[in-house]
Amino acid sequence: MAFVLKACSAIMALEEGQQVHARILRSGFTLNPYVQSSLANAGVGIEPDEVSLVGVISACAMAGALDIGKWIHAYINKRKIDIDLELNTALVNMYAKCGCIEKAKEIFDEMPVKDSKAWSSMIVGLAIHGLAEDALEVFSRMEEAKAKPNHVTFIGILSACARGGLVSEGKRHWSRMLELGIEPSMEHYGCMVDLLCRGGLVDEAYNFALSTPSPNPWEKMSHVRKKMKEKGIKAVPGCTSIEIDGFLHEFVMGDWSHPEAEEIKRTLKDVSVRIHSTGYEPCVSSVLHNVDDEEKENSVSEHSERLAIAYGLLKTKAPAAIRIVKNLTVCWDCHEVTKIISKVYNREIIVRDRVRFHKFVNGTCSCRDYW
Ligand SMILES: [Zn+2]
Ligand SMILES: [Zn+2]
Repeated sequence: MAFVLKACSAIMALEEGQQVHARILRSGFTLNPYVQSSLANAGVGIEPDEVSLVGVISACAMAGALDIGKWIHAYINKRKIDIDLELNTALVNMYAKCGCIEKAKEIFDEMPVKDSKAWSSMIVGLAIHGLAEDALEVFSRMEEAKAKPNHVTFIGILSACARGGLVSEGKRHWSRMLELGIEPSMEHYGCMVDLLCRGGLVDEAYNFALSTPSPNPWEKMSHVRKKMKEKGIKAVPGCTSIEIDGFLHEFVMGDWSHPEAEEIKRTLKDVSVRIHSTGYEPCVSSVLHNVDDEEKENSVSEHSERLAIAYGLLKTKAPAAIRIVKNLTVCWDCHEVTKIISKVYNREIIVRDRVRFHKFVNGTCSCRDYW
């Protein structure tokens, strides 16, 4: 039962979660067949409505809970619940954020009507998968369809250009965004700085960063970080979740409260022995990479993603992929190790970090070591 509660709390911690979840519990519709039957036994039996379904699917998207999301999708089909624009958009977003971009595309293409939100969800989904060309293609279709792009659309477009190294395309879309009267946010500026840096235009990137509205957000950020340090406030701790049989398990570095902690430690040891036999040496200095401070200071071998991957190796069998979701950016060392694990254990590992997906297969990553 502990894991049922864990899954519930993970869902509840999310945006609309609390209220939605209360409604689901009341309606007898819940996240797992096991929970569902136990609630059905309790004698509640009201049908879930579309609003609560959109909420739960969005929660699955945020948590990266693919199995639960798929289960709800199947439930919707089984019950012949009418899938409207909003529900379809939620499904596109869920599949994209849970790593199934093909399924997201399939649903999106079959949507009879699409609004700005639907188009944007697809574009952002393609962008986080590093599919820059596809994102731009969908964007031009969006313009042809006369749907109005919004600030989210441009976060998708600009980040797609940045990841794809498409400098002139990115600049063109930046101008287009300003033309449309969309006020650039910190995120848009971040994408542009990223884009220019990747294009080797470091000076331009620097000037661009300086051109951001005053007070300069970059300065402000480092100022805030410094203040937090002074006051002893810790940055957000790294946390990685993995879904096993419809239950979310959350791992935080140094937290060994998981009931299977001993087995996880043994698996970690096995991983360590096997990756070292390939000649791997840990690289503690991740200074050159954009790693969150909190993570940098800690022992890399126990980063939360390592625990989640170890748990995945322990609880699942090939050819099932190991899918994990991390709230921060993956550090260089964990990225290297995950590549080696994918080869040594012959397992596909899909990591969603704060900004993008990494798909590790046979010793390489889909990001081509660029994130
Ligand atoms: Zn790490
Ligand atoms: Zn990668």
